[in-house]
Amino acid sequence: MICINCPRGCEMDVEKRDNGEVAVSGNACPRGEAYAKSELVNPTRMVTGLVRIAGMRKPLPVKTKTAIPKPKIDDVLFALHQTTVQLPVKIGDVIIPNVAGTGVDVVATANM
Ligand code: SF4
Repeated sequence: MICINCPRGCEMDVEKRDNGEVAVSGNACPRGEAYAKSELVNPTRMVTGLVRIAGMRKPLPVKTKTAIPKPKIDDVLFALHQTTVQLPVKIGDVIIPNVAGTGVDVVATANM
């Protein structure tokens, strides 16, 4: 597994033992171990994207406020595709609350 937390991209060996423990090696810092364990149990990702703005050709950039479960990515992208916002919008404004039932909000990443 390759750690994606920083540009170093450590290649890690991850082993799940019979007793359920997960052993991680090859990581240069603790974030790699935490990432590897998370990937095994509940992989998550931040999602960024664009939503339509009513009456404008330029879209609004948005992101999930925190990482969401990886299997929900398609549902989140579908929700972004279905959304049109009205201006004005400020950075951090909630655009889609509880997107796709994840418990995570989609927020604006630009002032428009
Ligand atoms: S283990 Fe640490 S140093 Fe290595 S890629 Fe991940 S965050 Fe970067």
